Amino acid sequence: MAVRVAVPKEVAPGEARVASVPEVVQKLVKGGAEVVVEAGAGVRSGYPDALYTGAGARLETDPAALVRGAGIVVRVQPPTIEEIGRLAPGTIVVTTMNASRNLDRVAALREAKVTTFALELLPRITRAQGMDVLSSQATVAGYRATLIGADLCPKFLPMLTTAAGTIRPAKVLVLGAGVAGLMAIATARRLGAIVVAYDVRRAAGEQVRSLGAKFLELEINAEGSGGYARELTASEKAQEQEMLATAVADADIVITTANIPGRRAPLLVRAEMVARMRPGAAIVDLAAETGGNCELTQPGAQIEAHGVKIAGPLNLPSQLPFHASAMYARNVQAFLGLLLDAHGELAPNYQDEILAASLLTKDGTVPHAPTAQALAGGK
Ligand code: NAD
Repeated sequence: MAVRVAVPKEVAPGEARVASVPEVVQKLVKGGAEVVVEAGAGVRSGYPDALYTGAGARLETDPAALVRGAGIVVRVQPPTIEEIGRLAPGTIVVTTMNASRNLDRVAALREAKVTTFALELLPRITRAQGMDVLSSQATVAGYRATLIGADLCPKFLPMLTTAAGTIRPAKVLVLGAGVAGLMAIATARRLGAIVVAYDVRRAAGEQVRSLGAKFLELEINAEGSGGYARELTASEKAQEQEMLATAVADADIVITTANIPGRRAPLLVRAEMVARMRPGAAIVDLAAETGGNCELTQPGAQIEAHGVKIAGPLNLPSQLPFHASAMYARNVQAFLGLLLDAHGELAPNYQDEILAASLLTKDGTVPHAPTAQALAGGK
């Protein structure tokens, strides 16, 4: 029997994205699936209901009826306890979970015998690239970060030669050159700024330079397992601080994106470094969600300290919801390709490396070991 895929309206405060867009719905329907969309689910991201019905979806106004009989529920944010209460045992939920921060919901999904795939747990292997929601949403966040910085900055970013004289280009410093950082660099370069970037992974240097930015280098390489960064030693941190203090003081806009998976974000911009910045300079801290790369960042707020504006935005992808949703929906569609057969029927192979790594709950258990341990420890 063809599977029914349900697309709820996201209920998390400030969430404007939707997990499937009409273009993807049309492909799922063509592939044999039945798609039910909650009325209004795409309105905040620029996809009115009529586009979904035009793509072959059925609309449903009642959130409980939406998931009744659904084989798969696709979501952007983790389901709330109330939403989990509506799911029948065996329902498959494909979502981002941030399990370590949502243990109560993981426990509820386990008790409800729901099968949950957490997309942030996907292995970053070539075959999973099309499903990588961390990358697609970090691309959006990096772009938005530069625009926020440009908006806060009292200067032009490009060099201008005008009848009123020559304007020198602004200097943008990007700390952390992963997916978000590289997009922030590319966006700042397109706006004409002089861009300097830093990452503890030396491999990032080549990518930074290829975007026309300068790469700051220390005599260390902190590339850890899986291409991610490892935490620095105390003496490495001191070297890093010295180099960064000079670069931060020289910048008009500092965009920070540094993260270490599973840890608090590294503190890179100390209060005394902010005090040495020019009045009118701006900091956009993309790591606000994981504690912040700047000591003065207040997550979810914009403050001013020493004449410097410091923005700690949360959920930046939701600020560009049309394309963030489109990219997310394509990622989900690629993931559903592992769950469905050629006729749109459920045929998951739980031995598949990608499914095995992202499986968070199933049949009343938590196969993801770190989360199971955290739940057992009552953390
Ligand atoms: P992330 O969000 O975990 O971290 C962002 C960046 O912060 C990383 O580049 C990291 O090196 C950097 N960082 C950590 N500590 C730092 C410090 N003290 N100072 C400066 N920078 C610091 O990482 P991400 O953007 O999700 O990706 C990280 C890596 O994984 C990149 O190399 C990326 O290209 C790679 N990746 C691979 C795939 C794949 O499918 N193969 C997909 C996505 C990303």
